Amino acid sequence: MKTAWEKYSKDLKPVMDFCEGYKTFITNSKTEREATLETIKLAKKAGFKDLYSVKSIKTGDRLYANNRDKNVALFVIGKDRIEDGLNILGAHIDSPRLDLKQHPLYEDNGLVLLDTHYYGGIKNYQWVAQPMALHGVVCKKDGTTVNIKIGDDEKDPVIEISDLLIHLSRDQMQKKAVDVIEGEDLNALFGSIPKAKTKENPVKANILDILKKEYGIEEDDFISAELEIVPAGKARDLGLDRSMVMAYGHDDRICAYASLMAILDMKNPTKTSACVFVDKEEIGSVGSTSAHSTFFENCIAELISKQTTFNDHKLRRAYENSHMISSDVSAAFDPNYPQVNEPKNTAYFGKGISINKFVGSRGKSGSNDASPEYIAKLRKIFDDNNVMFQTAEIGRVNQGGGGTISYVLANKNMDVIDAGVAVQNMHACYETASKVDIYESYLAYRTFLKEYK
Ligand code: MN
Ligand code: MN
Repeated sequence: MKTAWEKYSKDLKPVMDFCEGYKTFITNSKTEREATLETIKLAKKAGFKDLYSVKSIKTGDRLYANNRDKNVALFVIGKDRIEDGLNILGAHIDSPRLDLKQHPLYEDNGLVLLDTHYYGGIKNYQWVAQPMALHGVVCKKDGTTVNIKIGDDEKDPVIEISDLLIHLSRDQMQKKAVDVIEGEDLNALFGSIPKAKTKENPVKANILDILKKEYGIEEDDFISAELEIVPAGKARDLGLDRSMVMAYGHDDRICAYASLMAILDMKNPTKTSACVFVDKEEIGSVGSTSAHSTFFENCIAELISKQTTFNDHKLRRAYENSHMISSDVSAAFDPNYPQVNEPKNTAYFGKGISINKFVGSRGKSGSNDASPEYIAKLRKIFDDNNVMFQTAEIGRVNQGGGGTISYVLANKNMDVIDAGVAVQNMHACYETASKVDIYESYLAYRTFLKEYK
């Protein structure tokens, strides 16, 4: 089986170096907010300026726009007009996790716990009995925001959702996997020392004292907080040959990073290059920071009005003349579970970026289905530029499926296709990807931004 590794048989360094950058990014980006701020940090270093701070635009300008710290767009202005269309990369930067409820804190028999509501599609049983971290923001009535990040520094304490010991699991082991850990039972252990001379909920009182002292927050402040329990720890190399990366949140910050690196490389492109990183994909792309938000459209309107006189027709033309790669992860073949795939149409580690003509489930339902005319043009530029790609479906017909943001922008009447890195254990606490696929995806995105006309 020919793999992309053969391209690098003389020198693995470009692949390995690129993935060191990715490991830092993914370790620092465990929430959509952290991914947004990390993206802007790297973009600013590469000369990007706030779109809303400039009066006019010209070829070569590098711009970003931040939507509520959870959704970000990047542009490198091309030689063509904005209404002639953009080459767009779109990824989502939210990942499955456990969100704290608005009233999360409670004490039960001398233990304090945090009550959660899971976000996105998870197998609950994967999220128990391992070190977890708490990331997010607490917004106070005085207008200030407290950033929370507990559990990722080695000196930090961690939190944990407990699991039942095997010794007492006779009943639990008879349950269906979906019922083994109930959604409502995903409560995280947060403390156990009682406050002296306190009768009612003394452990909770002590935890509240610590929150007040170390973070300046009170119990009521949880009402206006967005706190996410995520797996603790850093991204790691996987395999004796260090060929893979294991990390929390590959889906889909792995494609966001490859897309980001691609647009940071752009200088004076013909078509304007764009990257949009959205939130809320895992719960249906809804809301102000999602792919369905008009944020990205507003950015394009802003670009048109800074290049020429704006009218609605130019905005519609810009959309119709645009092309997009929805850069989202695909499911990689797993030798432990070969039965879920149809081998001719499956993504394999090491075979490059995985192109999905369609996603969806039950007869392609809910999917964008890319036009073959568009795929033919992409094949040509990938082949001409020595980018290794494979084509795949998520799994066997009727085995399941998945969705991405591709249909949202396709509804604006532009050509969109899904293409990204194949991963194993998608939506588990730690997901796995091949380093060479990450690198080939970056090359594919860069080639698309530069060469697609
Ligand atoms: Mn995804
Ligand atoms: Mn997902």
